[in-house]
Amino acid sequence: MELVIQGLSKTYGNGVKALDNVSLTIPTGLFGLLGPNGAGKSTLMRILATLQEADAGSATLGTIDVLRQKDEVRKVLGYLPQEFGVYPRVSAADMLDHIAMLKGITHNGERKALVDALLQKVNLWEHRKRKIAGFSGGMKQRFGIAQALIGEPKLIIVDEPTAGLDPGERNRFYNLLTEIGENVVVILSTHIVQDVQELCSRMAIINKGRLLYAGAPADALKELNGRVWEKAIAKSELEVYDRQHTLISNKLVAGRPIIHVLSDARPDDGFIPAEPNLEDVFFSAIRTADLTPVA
Ligand code: ADP
Repeated sequence: MELVIQGLSKTYGNGVKALDNVSLTIPTGLFGLLGPNGAGKSTLMRILATLQEADAGSATLGTIDVLRQKDEVRKVLGYLPQEFGVYPRVSAADMLDHIAMLKGITHNGERKALVDALLQKVNLWEHRKRKIAGFSGGMKQRFGIAQALIGEPKLIIVDEPTAGLDPGERNRFYNLLTEIGENVVVILSTHIVQDVQELCSRMAIINKGRLLYAGAPADALKELNGRVWEKAIAKSELEVYDRQHTLISNKLVAGRPIIHVLSDARPDDGFIPAEPNLEDVFFSAIRTADLTPVA
């Protein structure tokens, strides 16, 4: 099963072009959709989750026409939205039971077995009687995955799942995502490069509604080999370097900016070659797209 997206576009009433002719093929496994805030990720996720209409284009999941056969999509979809509204006075176990009922699992015994198994899977068994409102961010996200897994979905969409999680919670969430079956299309939308680096064998980068890269992170890294240069500079020099070079990142190390610059040749004697990382891929894709005039 593959998700094939072709020529998808969406412009909001205020004139913002959130998706601009996006075409993308997403195989089974964990797929990272990387983009800065406002790139169009949630718009794409919501369209695929049948919550929003596209203006143009198509999307098919196996034999399902995602934009038209919405009921068919909903039967095979597990969705963890960016803002997951939960019922504050309801325990995790009762809430999962309720959602399982809504998803058509009407047999009491079957539903109880499923809810128990999910609570164990996402490591919330001991908290099953607690109200979700009192959960930490990480526990809420794990609960969100549990509800998304009800009904053995073939397409799982998780939108910005690790924003706001502390490193321990983020790791637990990563482990959970990697346990989801290999035969499922899992789209992880995120602005956090580390999410994609640790989890995804395939990825896409979008910015300003446009697709900038699609492929394996490893291939994207290869393309940057020998083209990323590093230099420690003074803060006051930042503006000059930004004007004169394709600056792709700028990190403070012990209070001093360390910049990464994209260039086929060594920009000046002060630069040393840097091993490209996924953050370089991300920012060089965005930066070079910004520098290229749109035809
Ligand atoms: P991301 O999820 O990557 O942060 P979004 O899809 O939420 O991006 O937003 C893409 C662009 O569309 C942004 O410029 C955002 O401000 C705009 N946008 C999102 N939702 C709406 C809406 N309902 N009405 C108008 N503009 C919107």
